[in-house]
Amino acid sequence: MIKIPIRVLIVDDEKDFVEMLSLRLNEVGEKVMSAYSGKECLDLLEKEKDNVDVVVLDIKMPGMDGIEVLGEIRKRFPLIETIMLTGHGTTETAVQGMKLGAFDYLLKPADFADLQEKLEGARKRKDEQEERIRQAEAKLLVRRSGGAF
Ligand SMILES: [Mg+2]
Repeated sequence: MIKIPIRVLIVDDEKDFVEMLSLRLNEVGEKVMSAYSGKECLDLLEKEKDNVDVVVLDIKMPGMDGIEVLGEIRKRFPLIETIMLTGHGTTETAVQGMKLGAFDYLLKPADFADLQEKLEGARKRKDEQEERIRQAEAKLLVRRSGGAF
């Protein structure tokens, strides 16, 4: 079976963590981009929004924190899924993130198998939503052309 790569954007102010995770995700065939701040993440998404499935987003970052960035992602790029990264002490914030639309959260240092599973789940949710939108658009087209009734 051919694996379709998940297009992941990792956002974290800890460069070593980002590089380690990028390397491992590349090794298993995913396509990875990275950003080291909330602003960098949003600037990158502005250009690459059609090339990202899932954002893996650190909560604790200088400047814009993860929750703020999540809000912008939901508003500006609603089809892109987000998985929050949390350290000890910010689990409640991660749950808050899920209430704001994040797909899930991971406790740092993220277990790799766990991350892979959550990435698959997030990509699946995005695919299903895009499919529903395609179907709704197709129905609308049929209706507009007068064929539906
Ligand atoms: Mg951090």
